[in-house]
Amino acid sequence: MTYAKISGSERELPIGKILCIGRNYAEHIRELGNDTPDTPIIFMKPATSVIGDVGTIVIPSYSKDCHHEVELALLVGKKGKDIAQERALEHVAGYGVAIDLTLRDIQGELKKRGLPWDIAKGFDTACPLSTFVSADMIKNPQELRLRLWVNGELRQDGNTALMIHSIPAIISHFSSIFTLEPGDVILTGTPAGVGRLNTGDTVVAEITDVGRLRVNVQ
Ligand code: MG
Repeated sequence: MTYAKISGSERELPIGKILCIGRNYAEHIRELGNDTPDTPIIFMKPATSVIGDVGTIVIPSYSKDCHHEVELALLVGKKGKDIAQERALEHVAGYGVAIDLTLRDIQGELKKRGLPWDIAKGFDTACPLSTFVSADMIKNPQELRLRLWVNGELRQDGNTALMIHSIPAIISHFSSIFTLEPGDVILTGTPAGVGRLNTGDTVVAEITDVGRLRVNVQ
């Protein structure tokens, strides 16, 4: 079992479901030539896809195009169903840095054929995840700079202020479909600048005040 850790706290939660939103930043939608969805696009990753800081990404042999997507991760600390937006942040125990690894070539094929994305999004090592910082340390989660470097070159530089669906809106919507439980993780979408990873790359992702995550590609 994989555990989510909150820095400076004894609390560790076994990671449950990892709920993700797609297309939540306008610039990223444009760069992939996608339409802006009316309702959020939701997909999941299994807990087995998580690797921690200084972990190693293993790109599956069936893909030749694994993309990095830096995202703000929310750690659910309190169970909830049909959570109102006004109460949503009460359910967040911590904030972390995640990379939503995506096999873009495989995802493209699956999209074309109307098939689910699991093998493009949920493979082993598909979810590098940092230690979480306690939610009370973050004054405004909707104003955090996210950056990602590959081999020292800045590839993504966005801000959570640019989300289409806000953090409370995401939590409220997700909880209308899935009961949220302590240990669940929510990935909130990626800003523009996604791109391919190659064997031997070193990837650093950072969110101001939240943390930093460094992984390499096997
Ligand atoms: Mg993503």
